[in-house]
Amino acid sequence: MNKNYNESRNFDALGRDALTALDPDAARILRRLQKAYAAHAAACKAGQKDGPAPTYGYTGPAAEARLSREEADILYRRADLFNLCALAHQARQALHPGNIVTYVADRNINYSNICVCACRFCAFFRPPGHPEGYVLSREELDRKIRETIALGGTQILMQGGHHPDLSLSFYEETLTWIRNAHPGIHIHAFSPPEIMFFAEKEGLSVEEVITRLMRAGLHSIPGGGAEILTDRARSQVSPNKCSSGAWLGVMKTAHQLGLKTTATMMFGHEEEEGERLDHLFALRALQDDTLGFTAFIPWTFQSAHTNIVCAPETAQGYLRVLALSRLVLDNLPSIQASWVTMGPQVAQLALLAGANDFGSLMIEENVVAAAGVSFRLSREEIHAVIGKAGFMPRQRSMGYRLLD
Ligand code: SF4
Repeated sequence: MNKNYNESRNFDALGRDALTALDPDAARILRRLQKAYAAHAAACKAGQKDGPAPTYGYTGPAAEARLSREEADILYRRADLFNLCALAHQARQALHPGNIVTYVADRNINYSNICVCACRFCAFFRPPGHPEGYVLSREELDRKIRETIALGGTQILMQGGHHPDLSLSFYEETLTWIRNAHPGIHIHAFSPPEIMFFAEKEGLSVEEVITRLMRAGLHSIPGGGAEILTDRARSQVSPNKCSSGAWLGVMKTAHQLGLKTTATMMFGHEEEEGERLDHLFALRALQDDTLGFTAFIPWTFQSAHTNIVCAPETAQGYLRVLALSRLVLDNLPSIQASWVTMGPQVAQLALLAGANDFGSLMIEENVVAAAGVSFRLSREEIHAVIGKAGFMPRQRSMGYRLLD
């Protein structure tokens, strides 16, 4: 039995057939996937298939590895964490053989915290007229980008609140200014809810808004604002934000216009467990259609200073979702560990539970910090954390091109 888990250090360490102790349905599914990923890895090695491609145009493993919704539910509820993570690591190794773990060096720039959305989980926003509300000046933006470049950063992730008084022209002019002032920087900006807000405010289609932003300098779109992609959960935690269909629609339009995007899931608040799976399956269906997502970033809700009271998600709960993400999202090349919310030690474990990417150096972060979580890591610390988990850190671009 263990021979098929050769890529899994944890499983090998057991030295026995841990599957025999499992729920029989979960064990049957784990064995099927284990075989499929082993066959995929072997075929890639023998050159019978396209090699694993950690970037665009990726085609996943054979259909035998595809999980149905029912199977995913069984694994999520009944597989033991150890075997789930071991299988997710095997899937990761089949797609990304070797021991490279990538990360991007970027800075989160929040151009404004003024927002009319008032999501219950958000500790970052301030309503219009609030004394702590701000809109970054050009000078501040310029300083932040210069600092990013000086630290070896290649990208800015620019997002903000739903500001009622800023026009689409303001965002276009900002993008054009950044492009002209800092032509080397990659502009990863405006999550789907912001784009929906721009479209509704200006009376334009999503396609027109994205096209205009692309013309002005937008390079890619971050997967923020997804929270949980069901309308039940969204109406509860972010009733004024765009619907799940609108979020997916913006991403589909962006992909059709040639933009790459990421996808996220914020979990551990008021969603039902099954809604986490709904989220994953909605992303998988869209990715089947467009292949436009480069990466998936699941992260846990942080409750301090928000209007939601709940216990924090455990490390085990996080790893279970992460591992299941790798297995369900068989068409999405990269899964990121969230050291910003889980801390470096759990992020190390995530690298053995399906994640192949360490996210971002995050030279600046405001949104999670506003909710009371303040893990910070320097580039040297990121290298050390990845290295101590047995992997080789490599800096990448948004498109997963290795840069060092
Ligand atoms: S999460 Fe975004 S949209 Fe919601 S209140 Fe915060 S800034 Fe506004």
